[in-house]
Amino acid sequence: MLSDELETYREGVRRAIERRLSEGAGPRALADSYPSECLEALADIKVAGLNLSPAYGGEEVGFVAEGVVAEELARVDMNAAFWFLGSRRQGKAIEVGGSSEMQDAYLADIINAKIWTAWGSTEPSSGNDIQGMRTRAERRGDKWVVNGEKTSVSAGMLSPFIIIFARTIIGGEESGLTSFIVPVDTPGLQRTPFRDGVLKPMGRCSAYFDDLELSDAHVIGEPGRGGRLALATFQAARPIAALMALGCAAATLEETIGYTRERVVMGRPIGGYQGASFRVADAATAIHAARLACYHALQRLDETGRDEVATSMAKLHGTHVACDVMKSLMEVWGHYAFTHEYPLLQRYNDVTSTLSWDGSSDIHRLVIARALIGREITG
Ligand SMILES: Cc1cc2nc3c(=O)[nH]c(=O)nc-3n(C[C@H](O)[C@H](O)[C@H](O)COP(=O)(O)OP(=O)(O)OC[C@H]3O[C@@H](n4cnc5c(N)ncnc54)[C@H](O)[C@@H]3O)c2cc1C
Repeated sequence: MLSDELETYREGVRRAIERRLSEGAGPRALADSYPSECLEALADIKVAGLNLSPAYGGEEVGFVAEGVVAEELARVDMNAAFWFLGSRRQGKAIEVGGSSEMQDAYLADIINAKIWTAWGSTEPSSGNDIQGMRTRAERRGDKWVVNGEKTSVSAGMLSPFIIIFARTIIGGEESGLTSFIVPVDTPGLQRTPFRDGVLKPMGRCSAYFDDLELSDAHVIGEPGRGGRLALATFQAARPIAALMALGCAAATLEETIGYTRERVVMGRPIGGYQGASFRVADAATAIHAARLACYHALQRLDETGRDEVATSMAKLHGTHVACDVMKSLMEVWGHYAFTHEYPLLQRYNDVTSTLSWDGSSDIHRLVIARALIGREITG
C-alpha cells in the first residue's frame, strides 16, 4: 500500500513511539492531565514539525507520512495523536496566514513539542454549520472587539492560545468570517473546563469572549476569508482522524489476538472457536480496507492538493469501521472488556468521538451525496 521508504519510516516511528510512550499509556488515558514528560518524549520523536516550515525546524514530507505518524501515535496513545493533529493544523494556519511575529512566537514551540495548541470553531448553537456561528469581531478604530462563545475546544485549558473564527463586522456591515489567534491571557477571555468522558487528559473547554480586544497582528490570513482557511485545513484532517481511529482499532485487534491464544474456555483457547477467530478475521479485513481508503485520500491530497469526496469517504468509512470493529472485538473479552484494568473501554470511548469531530458522519454523507447526485437535488 505504501512505498518501501514509507514503510521503513513507519517502522522507525513505531519503535520510537513504543519505546517512549507505551509505558503507562492505559492509566494515562484515564487521567485528568497529560504528563509533561510525554510532550518531551514527543519532542524527541520529532514528529510535530511534519509539513511545517523548515525555517522553524519543520520538515516537508507529504500528507501520507502524516497519516503514518497519526496512526502509529493513536495505536499507543490517542491523546498524543490528537496533540499531533492539532499541532499540524494550528501550526499550518499560523504558517500560512500568521504575521512574522505570530510565527516567531509559536511555530518553533509547536515544532519542538513544547506546547499544546487549540482551535475553536464550534459554538453552543452551531458545530457542523460553520456559517451559522454567532461570535462577532467588530472593527472599532484600529482594534477588533470580539464577543461570543466557543465550545468543545480540545486542549483549550492546556494551550497558550486558541485559534478562533468570528463574523466580521466593519462599519456595521458583515463580511465573511475572520480567523484570529487569541492568547489565553487576553483580558475578556474566560475559559471553563468540561467534565469530559473522552480524551480526558487533553480535555475540552468553553471559551467566552466579552469585549475581548485584538489587533491586526492577531488576524490569521485576510479579514473576511477565515472560512476558506478552516475548510483548507479540514481536508487533510479527515483521513488523518480516520487513521487515528484505525490505529486504536489495530491496537485492540493486536491485544485481542493475544487474548484469543491465552484465554481458555471449555478446555480450549477461545481462538479455537469461530465466535472469536472469525471476529478477528473480519476485524483485520475491515481495518485493512479502511486504511487503504485513508491512504488513497492522502495520496490524492499529495498529488492534487484537494479531493473532497475521497477525504470524506475516508473519514466516514474509517471512523465507522474502527468503532464497529472495536465493539465486536470487545465481546471476545467478555466482562474483562469493561474494567479499567485493560485499555479497551476508554479507547473505545475515545474512538467514538471521532464520529463527531472534523465533520460528523452525516456531513460527510452530504458531501459525497452532493458530488454523486448534484447539489441542485440534494440541497
Ligand atoms: C472529543 C471532541 C473534541 C472536539 N474538539 C473540538 C475542537 O477542538 N474545536 C472545535 O471547534 N470543535 C471541537 N469539537 C466539536 C466538533 O467539531 C463538533 O461536535 C462537530 O462539528 C459537530 O457539531 P455539533 O456537535 O454542534 O453537532 P450539530 O452540528 O448540531 O449536528 C448534530 C447532528 O445533526 C445532524 N446534522 C446536522 N447538520 C446536518 C446537515 N446539514 N445534514 C445532515 N445532517 C445534519 C447530524 O446527524 C449531526 O451529527 C470536538 C468534539 C468532540 C466530541
